[in-house]
Amino acid sequence: MATCDLHMHSTASDGSDAPAALAALAAAAGLAAIALTDHDTTAGLPQCAAACAAAGIDFVPGIEVSADLSAIKPAGADAAAPVRGTLHLLGLFIRHDDRQLADIHQQMVHAREGRNTQIVQRLCDQGVRIGDDEVQALAAAHGSDVIGRPHIAQVLLNKGYVKSVHEAFVLYLGQGAAAYVRRDRLDPRRAIDAIHHAGGLAILAHPVQLQCTSADELELCIKRLKAMGLDGLETQHCDHTQADVQRLTQLAACYHLLPSGGSDYHGDRKAVALGSQQVSLAVYDALRQAWLARTANACGRL
Ligand code: AMP
Ligand code: ZN
Ligand code: FE
Ligand code: FE
Repeated sequence: MATCDLHMHSTASDGSDAPAALAALAAAAGLAAIALTDHDTTAGLPQCAAACAAAGIDFVPGIEVSADLSAIKPAGADAAAPVRGTLHLLGLFIRHDDRQLADIHQQMVHAREGRNTQIVQRLCDQGVRIGDDEVQALAAAHGSDVIGRPHIAQVLLNKGYVKSVHEAFVLYLGQGAAAYVRRDRLDPRRAIDAIHHAGGLAILAHPVQLQCTSADELELCIKRLKAMGLDGLETQHCDHTQADVQRLTQLAACYHLLPSGGSDYHGDRKAVALGSQQVSLAVYDALRQAWLARTANACGRL
C-alpha cells in the first residue's frame, strides 16, 4: 500500500535534515507524497519541491504555526493560571511566497529571539552555562532563522549537560520545566486566515497536544476552530494512541473536517522515523481534491 507523510521539519526550522535531503529519505521510506511543514517558515519549500520532483514524489508545500490556545480553550479551575497545552496549525498546499505568511515569519522570528534569550538566562541562573551565540551559531550553520527549543536542546546535548534532546525537554525546556518560557503566539483566527490567504488548507496539528481534560472540551475546541475556518484534523500523529486516532477520525467526520496525518519527523532531534505513521495515500488524495476544488472556486469568483 502506498503511503504518504504530511508533517515533517527540515533545517529551515528545527529539523536536522536539509530540505532537499528529505526527498531521498522519503523515497527510501517508500513514500509517494510528502509535505514539508517547517515552523513559521516557508524557506525550505522550493528546494524540497525540486528534490521531490526529481525523485518522482508528490510534494505538498506546507507550514506549521503556533497559535494562542487560550483563544479557544476554557480556563481551568485557576482562571489566572496559563492554559496548559499547545495549539499548532498546519497549512497544506500553501504558496511559499505569500505576504501574510511572510509577515507571520518576521513576527515569530522576533518573538523567538526574545524568548530564547530568556531561556538561556534561566539556564544560566541554574548553573547551566550556554550562550545565546552558541544557539544562534548552531541554527545559522544550517541556514535557519527560526530558532526553537530543539536548537537549545542540541547545544545542551553537545555540551554534555543532558544525555538526549528528550532529557533536555524534561529537565529544562518542556512546559512547566525549570527554564520554560512561553512565547508569543498568534491568534488562531489570524493563523487560519493567513493559511487561507496563501491558498492552503488549515489543519489542526496533533490535537492531543491541546491537552484537553475531557472529550467535551476537545469537541468544543474543534467546534471553535471550525467556526474560524478550520479545514481538517491531523488524526494520525506520533503522539496519538490507536484510541486517539479512532476518536479524532469520528470527530473529523462529524464536523466535516478532512483527516490528515504525518510523523512530525525532526531528523535526529526526535525519536520518530519518516513515514512511520503509514498514512494512506487516500488521505493525501482527499486533501488534494478539496484543495483543487477550492482553488477552482476561487478562480471562478475572479
Ligand atoms: P518551540 O518551537 O521553540 O516552541 O519548540 C517546539 C518544538 O520542540 C516542537 O517542534 C517539538 O517537536 C519539540 N519538542 C517539544 N517537546 C519535545 C520533547 N519532549 N522531545 C523532543 N522535542 C520536543
Ligand atoms: Zn519542531
Ligand atoms: Fe507541532
Ligand atoms: Fe511539527
